[in-house]
Amino acid sequence: MTRRSSSACRAYLERLSRYVDGDLSSHARQGTVLHLQRCPCCHDLVESLTRTVTLCHAEGRRHLPAAVRARARARIAILLAAHAVDPRRRR
Ligand SMILES: [Zn+2]
Repeated sequence: MTRRSSSACRAYLERLSRYVDGDLSSHARQGTVLHLQRCPCCHDLVESLTRTVTLCHAEGRRHLPAAVRARARARIAILLAAHAVDPRRRR
């Protein structure tokens, strides 16, 4: 498993939440799946987003509340910033 550059991850930021929502074209989805297979940082983020979405759906919500989505994006930005500081760090 190789560590991708944070610039590659940034290109996937918008896609990750749409990936979790099942809202990508098949081509975009395939590219995202390939990135997730190679990138533990984005893979962890998707797992976290998926858990959040699952909890929201269990409460009967069809979409994430705006505040939850904003917190998820902030968490992604923090993790990417940490990744940019030390790309050798696992998490
Ligand atoms: Zn990534």
